[in-house]
Amino acid sequence: MGEPLNVLIIEDSEDDALLVLRELRRGNFTLVWERVQTAESLRAMITSQIWDVIISDYRLPGFDAPGALEIVKQSQLDVPFIVVSGAIGERSAVEMMKAGAHDYLMKENLTRLPEAVRREVRDAQIRAERKQAEVELRRQLAAIEAAIDGIAILQENTYLYLNRAHLDLFGYERSEELVGKTWKLLYSQAEVERFERDIFPVLACNRAWQGEAIATRKDGSTFIQGVSLTLTEDGLLISVCRDISDLKQAQELIAHNALHDPLTNLPNRTLLVKRLEFAINQAKRYENYRYAILFLDLDRFKVINDSLGHVIGDYLLTTIAQKLKTHLREIDLVARLGGDEFVILLEDISEPEKVIQIAERILADCQTPLIIKGHKIFTSLSIGIVLGTKDYHQASDLIRDADIAMYRAKKQGKNSYKFFDALMHTQALKCLTLETDLRKAFEQEEFTVYYQPIVDVLDNRLVGFEALVRWRHPTRGFVFPDEFIPVAEEAGLIVSLDSWVFYQACQQMVSWKNKFANFSPLKISINLSAQDLRKASLIEDITRILADIGLEGNSITLEITESMLIEDIDQTIDLLTQLESRNIQISIDDFGTGYSSLNYLHRLPAHNLKIDCSFVSQMQAENRNYQVVSTIITLSNQLGLTVVAEGIETPQQLQQLQQLGCQLGQGYLFSKPLSAAEIEAHFLQGDWNWRCHTYSIKPLLNKAPVSM
Ligand code: C2E
Ligand code: MG
Ligand code: MG
Repeated sequence: MGEPLNVLIIEDSEDDALLVLRELRRGNFTLVWERVQTAESLRAMITSQIWDVIISDYRLPGFDAPGALEIVKQSQLDVPFIVVSGAIGERSAVEMMKAGAHDYLMKENLTRLPEAVRREVRDAQIRAERKQAEVELRRQLAAIEAAIDGIAILQENTYLYLNRAHLDLFGYERSEELVGKTWKLLYSQAEVERFERDIFPVLACNRAWQGEAIATRKDGSTFIQGVSLTLTEDGLLISVCRDISDLKQAQELIAHNALHDPLTNLPNRTLLVKRLEFAINQAKRYENYRYAILFLDLDRFKVINDSLGHVIGDYLLTTIAQKLKTHLREIDLVARLGGDEFVILLEDISEPEKVIQIAERILADCQTPLIIKGHKIFTSLSIGIVLGTKDYHQASDLIRDADIAMYRAKKQGKNSYKFFDALMHTQALKCLTLETDLRKAFEQEEFTVYYQPIVDVLDNRLVGFEALVRWRHPTRGFVFPDEFIPVAEEAGLIVSLDSWVFYQACQQMVSWKNKFANFSPLKISINLSAQDLRKASLIEDITRILADIGLEGNSITLEITESMLIEDIDQTIDLLTQLESRNIQISIDDFGTGYSSLNYLHRLPAHNLKIDCSFVSQMQAENRNYQVVSTIITLSNQLGLTVVAEGIETPQQLQQLQQLGCQLGQGYLFSKPLSAAEIEAHFLQGDWNWRCHTYSIKPLLNKAPVSM
């Protein structure tokens, strides 16, 4: 098989055409061919298929080779055009070649034809490939020009080419400003030295390098450039780069945010833990290395936040954060753990006295009232301190112990500091065990309600009971509220517990009312916690339970302590007013032990004041407690409040209270808190003179069982 060849022959003489074909076949071509004689048929045929070569006679009837060549050129096809003719004279031949014919051969001597065809076909192929390559190159250049990244080609340290983006990146308008110039124009001396010292050796070795550089714009400003350099085989250096300043900034911000608190911009827990771990290691390595951590918590922050709003709360935290920083050295660290909790790490401290000095300075400073957005705010802190020892292995242990010590400081009167000691840890652990047991106690139904009679001391009449919760601990026996109520409050269990007690006590009341209908209306007093008052659904829940059980609001009294009132006085007044509208009475419990709220007592829709046991028990004629009790009773009478004296244990106390005009009383003298069954047996049943509502203390003293 010869070489395939598609030939278009322009020839009027068939013989001559055959001659051409024979010559080509002899030259080892396998032919596909057509013959045309007119301009029209040439036009039609030329695009009908791909032709490798056109062989044309010079002169045809009504047509000629120049005309044919013109048609071929118009078709834009690059097909070799070879004239095969009789003698046409040198001039015509030259004209033809000038016009674009590729070769001219005499009909008489066609032996050269195959070789001429072969050469022209090959040349046409090369021309086509080159054209294709040019198209490709133009496309690639357009792409490079359109690229967002700066692209430059360098040869021996000078620019050969820079795309638009590269010029823009460095603030140049025309590429002539840089082509032929050294790259060093675009970098500071220090960067040039770094490139030469650190980067070029790597580039020479790996043929490629990627990294960052500080680049200088035409106007002298700088930016962080992400750059990739590639060395080509023929020694060109291709640089692709972009401005990564924004990216770097964003990365730095993310890294910063991961380690800092957004509100105060202080280090956060993560960063604190890292620094603590470092300190722990230093203490292990160096005998004399001392450090301490201070756990700080704002006293009454919640009150400020709830009453003045979060904006002011946030402002306060930022101000405190700033204050704390002023008391520390560069090497120290103050972190915010969240809420109103801050931790200070003091490193390399010479002696513990230094820590005390700092704690005292901070306490004093934070006591100065702050004026925030027109509000004068009094703040104070409680601080727990741990001195780092070799025994600490974990940051979390340090934080935990400092937290425990802080809690102690807070309990012992706020605005103070406390050093951590091992005993605190034991107690904290005990508290934790109690909390775990408390959670179980719910499931195991270990709670029960006891009732303590409340008596009208002026006419010796039983008026009601106070419901007091008791916990039958599986191993410890009875546990008293003073021990577990604070833990239940801490653990967030108090609301469920109180609502359980409320339900039980109300149900008990309904049952007694039904069973002992001839008693004068008895009331049940139920204790609430601060967290109950904060519960949004309190009123709704109480109303629902009373309706479910079928108890009137006027059968219950809710006891709230003085300290619960001041947390948010306006909100409390609103809540108490709503309770009052449901005929529910309010007792202010433990009166006299907390902040004296006498000044706003008249604003409260309260009905009773309960004088705390501590005053009654220590009361002796004309001593200080006697004066206090006397004042409370006088004041209450003026405000229309009924006084209930708690903790009446002796007839003398009872007598004194009666003389002072105290109306109600409660205490072991009448009865200790008893189970419902005991109350029934000893107060509601039988032929007690309670029945006729005239009570004399004596029989009760003798007969009431002393339980709980
Ligand atoms: P409280 O409301 O002031 O209750 C009076 C406390 O005084 C009771 O202690 C009672 O047993 C005790 N008491 C009564 N008479 C005398 C007496 O003559 N002498 C002495 N020394 N004490 C007397 P209890 O039952 O241990 O309760 C302690 C506190 O626990 C209560 O003080 C109350 O604040 C709280 N509490 C009790 N039950 C509940 C409850 O169900 N919910 C809530 N939130 N708190 C409760
Ligand atoms: Mg009470
Ligand atoms: Mg009380």
